[in-house]
Amino acid sequence: MGFSQNISRLQPSATIAVSTLAKKLTAEGRDIINLSAGEPDFDTPAWISDGAVSGIRDGRTRYTPTPGMPALRQAVAGFMAHESGREVAPDGVVVSNGAKQSLFNAAFTLFGPGDEVLIGSPYWTSYPQIVTLARAEPVFVSGAESREFLLTPEDLDRAATQRTRGLILSSPSNPTGAVYSGAELEAVARWARDRGVWLVTDEIYRHIYYGDEPSAAGLLSLPADALGDFVLIDGVSKSWAMTGWRIGYAYTSAEVAKKMSALQSHMTSNAAAPSQMAALTAYSDPERALASAAEMTAAFRRRRDLVTRLFREALPDLPFVEPRGAFYLFFRVDSLFDDSCADSSAWCTRMLEDTGVAMVPGVAFGDDRFVRLSFATSDELLEQAIHRLAEAVAGAGAAGA
Ligand code: PMP
Ligand code: GLU
Repeated sequence: MGFSQNISRLQPSATIAVSTLAKKLTAEGRDIINLSAGEPDFDTPAWISDGAVSGIRDGRTRYTPTPGMPALRQAVAGFMAHESGREVAPDGVVVSNGAKQSLFNAAFTLFGPGDEVLIGSPYWTSYPQIVTLARAEPVFVSGAESREFLLTPEDLDRAATQRTRGLILSSPSNPTGAVYSGAELEAVARWARDRGVWLVTDEIYRHIYYGDEPSAAGLLSLPADALGDFVLIDGVSKSWAMTGWRIGYAYTSAEVAKKMSALQSHMTSNAAAPSQMAALTAYSDPERALASAAEMTAAFRRRRDLVTRLFREALPDLPFVEPRGAFYLFFRVDSLFDDSCADSSAWCTRMLEDTGVAMVPGVAFGDDRFVRLSFATSDELLEQAIHRLAEAVAGAGAAGA
């Protein structure tokens, strides 16, 4: 069948595909431990959900302005100002149906045919698809593995051409958990500014951070003169366990925000009004919101410590990127490849069949030597999963010996 040029090269989201398969197998009665999709296993804090419930009761059930209720745009700006000590203009904020739509808005507003967009690799699986849907060309750029793949201006210089229009990266990173320090991010921001390249930073995991500060460095922590043109992407999905509410936002110049809003007005209109009310509740009380995020992050930190310890003990031959933020372990499995299992997809399929542990192959994130597991699940399940993986890997080794 002939599909439109728009979607002829489109691949479905691998993260969602694996987690859908895992859920289906569970429903069929298989004993599956689903470490695929990155989704906090906590409930949304009740005080935030209550905001939506009262909103519905108060009749906040109609269309809102496309870029979000004015009070919410104001609260998001206030939250960013509270954290950064910087002035943040509400008319630069566009609220969307999840950070995914914010990224989509940014790509469609800024990039098009003939443009190259650098994507820090390993990358979140949707970035190249979104850029391709905008008919621009994704160009992957990777930092050194010994530097957790974080980009330097030198890496960027090697990848950039006359056609480079944008750079997309996530920090903390999905899938690696690597985090740019303020100085590292500043160097990248200055590079983008000097080159006249749009910098799109996905900061959705900024509060799920294992360093000493309450959150990872983001664009607003940098000196103002380091910033050129940028779009900052964030949202409530991860920090407040709100994946199903579908609220994300972009913060950029008022001019770009207007264009993104115009685009969104033809796609989805506003994000769901009750969800906006929940987000309004969260962002209007920064201290309480940060305390709720910190509580969940404490659990993720404990699990990060557990998973990395168990990996070192039970799977000592599988190197991984030390997760400094987010809730993923990105580990290398290419030493286990053989003729019957020669890439990350085959390895994940084998593990799903043999052990019931569902994970996402690294090829979905641009590196076929790796596999991603999400540790946003209970300590017991994580222990069980790693135990099963270790047994399978030892068994395969013994069989091959
Ligand atoms: N960016 C990254 C790096 C993500 O991992 C995700 C996953 N949900 C998103 C964006 C999209 O988040 P949302 O649920 O807000 O659309
Ligand atoms: N972002 C999560 C992940 O990487 C959720 C799935 C998705 O939105 O793609 O697994």
